Amino acid sequence: MSLRYLQGNQSGSPQRDRRLLVRHLSGRGITDLRVLDVMGRIPRHLFVANPLWEAAYADHPLPIDEGQTISQPFIVALMTQALNLQKTDRVLEIGTGSGYQTAVLAELADEVYTIERFRTLADKAQQLLDSAGYHHIFFRVEDGTLGWPERAPFDKIIATAACPQIPATLLGQLREEGRLVIPVGNRHVQSLLLVHKEKDGRVRSEELCACSFLPLIGKEGWPEREFSSN
Ligand code: SAH
Repeated sequence: MSLRYLQGNQSGSPQRDRRLLVRHLSGRGITDLRVLDVMGRIPRHLFVANPLWEAAYADHPLPIDEGQTISQPFIVALMTQALNLQKTDRVLEIGTGSGYQTAVLAELADEVYTIERFRTLADKAQQLLDSAGYHHIFFRVEDGTLGWPERAPFDKIIATAACPQIPATLLGQLREEGRLVIPVGNRHVQSLLLVHKEKDGRVRSEELCACSFLPLIGKEGWPEREFSSN
């Protein structure tokens, strides 16, 4: 089934499904042509398990290992568009997960520093992205709420897991005039925030939409024990 999918017979082809996805994203208000172009090229199905390949271009999150999910394509597009990436940007990503968002960032920025708390996920993503030829992505297994101080400041920061509040450490590692995109709220529903750090260091937030992300677990996120008991 999967081979047939890759070869583009009968039940659809990834190229055609990506074209349809791009049309859908553009219909949902994604206007940044660079983002649409990249998402029209990256093979999202390779970031999920084989039985899910044929569902990979629908606009839904899908399960990955460790009980986590690959984010919904619309949310990936919206977050990336909000970052307004430049080819010279150094980007910090918290929550590598499958590595799909990482690849989207890497296509549009100079360097991507990505942190994941599960080694299994980080290793799998690194293997895939290394073999795809991305040599400007740097991986770390750590609590991402603490950022990557040795490489700070970053032009852009993106967190793909939900936080009870904006982690002060991440804001501190954002360059002035930089942008941070992060879901902030409770464990079930959050506001997707675009945070601007002004030249004078002041911070201004705008809400992009309501969303529902998995929790950011760490020192400046939610404590792990709240999740191990249920
Ligand atoms: N962008 C990913 C989303 C993965 S879901 C994708 O599209 O595939 C969110 C990820 O954040 C999970 O992999 C989870 O393990 C990770 N995460 C949660 N808390 C974290 C923390 N404190 N530091 C780093 N990663 C964290």
